[in-house]
Amino acid sequence: MYQKFLPAALAAQTGWKEWPSFGDDLAKFLLFAIPVVFIYGICIGSFLNVVIIRLPRGESLIKRSSHCMTCGAKIRIIDLIPVFSWLFLKGKCHSCGEKISPRYPIVEALNGILYVIDLLIFGVNFNCVIMMLFTSILICVAFIDWDTMDMYVPMLLLIAALAIPSHFLTYIPLKERIIGIFIISVPFLLIGEISGAYIKKKTGEKVRGIELGDTILMACAGALIGWKAMIPSAFIGIILAAIFGLIIKKVTGSSKFAFGPYLCIGLWIGAMFGEEITMWYILQLPKDDPIQYYSAFLLR
Ligand SMILES: [Zn+2]
Repeated sequence: MYQKFLPAALAAQTGWKEWPSFGDDLAKFLLFAIPVVFIYGICIGSFLNVVIIRLPRGESLIKRSSHCMTCGAKIRIIDLIPVFSWLFLKGKCHSCGEKISPRYPIVEALNGILYVIDLLIFGVNFNCVIMMLFTSILICVAFIDWDTMDMYVPMLLLIAALAIPSHFLTYIPLKERIIGIFIISVPFLLIGEISGAYIKKKTGEKVRGIELGDTILMACAGALIGWKAMIPSAFIGIILAAIFGLIIKKVTGSSKFAFGPYLCIGLWIGAMFGEEITMWYILQLPKDDPIQYYSAFLLR
């Protein structure tokens, strides 16, 4: 059964997601690879927690060993096992018994699960490694933005830097990457500028509808995943932000919230399935549709 659906479902038609042929050994390979990739993912996730907590405070990422946020007790080696230590300690510090935020195991498990999906979608190749790095950067960007309503530009530029190895190792044409840089970031920049000027005129506040960080994020991600993946990414991100924005406004009464986490979710889904969504959508349109006309021009 698996020989029939897995490679067909997982290998992309677009050519940059490809599985080497494992034949009958695919199931055996996955049985081994999925736990290994998951454990690797939760260990990296453990480091992401350090980045998410320490970077906004300007603390060193490597120097001090992990310590309890309440009593300062050093965390024992045995309590450093990602996800499992938290479950074993029932979410409490071994020294003072104070609650440890469930966010730590959530970030770890999230990174592990998304790494496994990266593997299943992209197969065993360098592009999968690039997508795993992209996944981890998105998790950091999303949680830091959620906490601080701010983004770190060097972290965003790291996404753009990934576009360089990606260009040599995958099949996304340079043209798709260059269009990808501008296709979402330019509208975002315009909306940000216009809304910023409007809000300043009305209330005197210096707030923009879309912050510059979000705009830079979409430009950098566009260089990595190309315009075909960017369009569904932006749609998904905006729709999620609209839904959760309404919920947040109902709960807290504030209309100010971080846009970044939703864009990051959109970008991750877009990186996985965006190309296929865009190609499928274009193929649904009638032949004389202007979108089909322009996309034919972009795809040439
Ligand atoms: Zn403690």
